[in-house]
Amino acid sequence: MTGRWVKRLLRGLVLAGLLGLSAGLSPASAKAPDPGKIGPRICSLMGQGDLTPAQALARSDQFRCGDEAYSKGADHAWFLVDVSDLTAAIEHPVLRTRLGHHGAMTINLVLADGTIRTERYSGRQITEQWRSPSSLAFAIHDHNAPRVAKVLIGVDQPWDLRNFMDVSVVDEDVDLVSHTHAAVMAAFFCGVMFAPLVLNAFFFLMVRQRFILFYAAMVAQVLAYSFLWSNLVFEVFPGFGILTRSILDHLLLAGAILMACLLVRDLCEKEKLGRFWRTALVVTGLIPLAAGVFFMSLVPHFPLTGSTIFHGVFLFPFLTLIGALVTASLRGSRFALAQLIGWAPAFFVILGRIGRGLGLIGNMEFFDTGFFPSVMVDIVFTAVLVMIRTRRIWHEREEALAEHTSLRELALTDPLTGLANRRAFEEQFDEALASGLFRNRSLALLLLDIDHFKKVNDTFGHAAGDYVLAELGSLLESGLRERDVVARFGGEEFCVLVDANSRHAAELAAEALRARIAAHEFGDVGHITVSIGLAHVHSDEPIAFLTYYKAADAALYAAKAAGRNRLRISGWRPQLPTPGPDDLPDDQVWVVKQG
Ligand code: GH3
Ligand code: MG
Ligand code: MG
Repeated sequence: MTGRWVKRLLRGLVLAGLLGLSAGLSPASAKAPDPGKIGPRICSLMGQGDLTPAQALARSDQFRCGDEAYSKGADHAWFLVDVSDLTAAIEHPVLRTRLGHHGAMTINLVLADGTIRTERYSGRQITEQWRSPSSLAFAIHDHNAPRVAKVLIGVDQPWDLRNFMDVSVVDEDVDLVSHTHAAVMAAFFCGVMFAPLVLNAFFFLMVRQRFILFYAAMVAQVLAYSFLWSNLVFEVFPGFGILTRSILDHLLLAGAILMACLLVRDLCEKEKLGRFWRTALVVTGLIPLAAGVFFMSLVPHFPLTGSTIFHGVFLFPFLTLIGALVTASLRGSRFALAQLIGWAPAFFVILGRIGRGLGLIGNMEFFDTGFFPSVMVDIVFTAVLVMIRTRRIWHEREEALAEHTSLRELALTDPLTGLANRRAFEEQFDEALASGLFRNRSLALLLLDIDHFKKVNDTFGHAAGDYVLAELGSLLESGLRERDVVARFGGEEFCVLVDANSRHAAELAAEALRARIAAHEFGDVGHITVSIGLAHVHSDEPIAFLTYYKAADAALYAAKAAGRNRLRISGWRPQLPTPGPDDLPDDQVWVVKQG
């Protein structure tokens, strides 16, 4: 039943995942090649940060062009881009480069007449040029000046040189529209991610399970990561440094991946995952975080460390995640299979980005545009899994609780009469006294015993005896008020706790009960009688049940001795010692009314 339900849900989710994936892919794949893309036409000169722009330009013969020209680890780089045909074709040209981790920049516009105009941007000022999600834009036109022929970019500590391969010239309007579009999408994404966080807080209140916290921590970190990665952070905190953003971004992503590893470890069935993968998930999950802390300690040299290591550390948890999920899926874990499917788009995008960072594959726009849709699919998918698991745990708990309740009921009920048994009666007696509900009331404990019941069994048979017991049970129950408690104490002995306005009223109630039983017709057996012993309860004093029971039993013994079918009242009071049947003084047992 549940299996079919899960299967149907999974089928629906696969469809939703594919739709999400195609939605993420389509803008990138549908777009025509950007006419303003410059790419390999960029030439670069490594080092030589002490040169003036003019001096750097003068060494244009030392610039090397194309992809292979970049070397890592330089503390400065010059990039020379010929934009003359683009500035001629575009009315208000803007130069865009990919935002990376780097220090200060100079943008030097080389005009058609040879003059150079230099703009300097410190690490913080650069953020004013950001374009969502991950570009910098610089206007390269001025109506009162000749056209810009070349742009010379000087970059301090260019951490990832490939960022500057990604240079394009677009019209001012295109630049702004794409920026707004991407920023709105990022803001929408960040907003949407609050929903699973709220939902999870609710789930956690229902079942206090670790995996819900892991999921919530993962979503919160992805949310914070997205806020930084999309550079929305610059919108809110304009002075936020690029380097701080990069380090925090790394730590948040590392944290989110650790949480994803722990989540998979908790959500998948233990035996399907196996010990190896359970350990591997924790160990490899910690690697990017440890590396992040290590990189942080290298600041300010951080931008010079190889981006290979920086990206490479993420491969460990990702490959482990995929390995663990594939293994558990093959062993028949539906949770693992669902996670594998739900996370596939995100795996694809993130592995692509790692590959790009490692220089194994070129840049695809999808690595940037596909991030939000794929992560959104991942988070929604996982939210559903968390929900299913929460529901299952909730159900199991309810079932266990129901079973516990029915077992308890069985343990507290007398099967023949359906009345409470002695254990239940004692519990209720103690509760009634502790609750204080009966303060200023008169409580009386009655002990009833059928007279000559052995004869009933002997004459009419055991079944008739059972019938009499059951019938007496319902007679007792129907003759009492709501707050009275009645129980069968075993054999043909019953116990009743009577709640009355006064001692006298309680005694009258007991006597009325006796008379009512004597008048009742018990089928073929006819009439039976009972003897009753009564002990008044002193509800203000913390006295154990057994004391009252003994007092009532003594009174019952007296009633039997006096000829049966009568009520006797114990004269015992708390200050007197607990009586036994033999040592109860005669003046403490007296007859209220005789049948
Ligand atoms: P007394 O007036 O002194 O109480 O006499 P009695 O015969 O009622 O007392 P006694 O204790 O000698 O016998 C109690 C009888 O109750 C003996 C037993 O067979 C019977 N009895 C106890 N439990 C059950 C039961 O569950 N079903 C039936 N049918 N009889 C029971
Ligand atoms: Mg009896
Ligand atoms: Mg008896």
